[in-house]
Amino acid sequence: MKVTRVDHVGIAVKDLEESLKFYTEILGLEAHGSEVVEEQKVKVAFLPCGDSELELLESTAPDGPIAKYIEKKGEGIQHVALRVDNIEETLAELKEKGVRLIDQTPRYGAGGARIAFLHPKATNGVLLELCERK
Ligand code: ZN
Repeated sequence: MKVTRVDHVGIAVKDLEESLKFYTEILGLEAHGSEVVEEQKVKVAFLPCGDSELELLESTAPDGPIAKYIEKKGEGIQHVALRVDNIEETLAELKEKGVRLIDQTPRYGAGGARIAFLHPKATNGVLLELCERK
């Protein structure tokens, strides 16, 4: 297993367009890769910051994971994504070590990444995403 960087930090927002104004107009970041990921009921946009990015996530449905997160905790940091060089290998190694996973196999992530989430009970309360990009 090789973790190479913090790929991105995922931020749950109520209104993506409205939130983007702060990050682009005030902070001067550039948004790219705006995309709806139906399976996760989210609309996302990425804002590159050097080697990492911010990912803003707005729910597309009231029962989506981001809507539920905001309902419980309000807007804010929802997950941290670590870039790995081989996600299958990483998941296999974590299973072997008895780490609790949300995703047993990789799924599609915005921007064509392959992603998998670890259970927050295994990570001191942080929803950790593994992310492999080619
Ligand atoms: Zn993410």
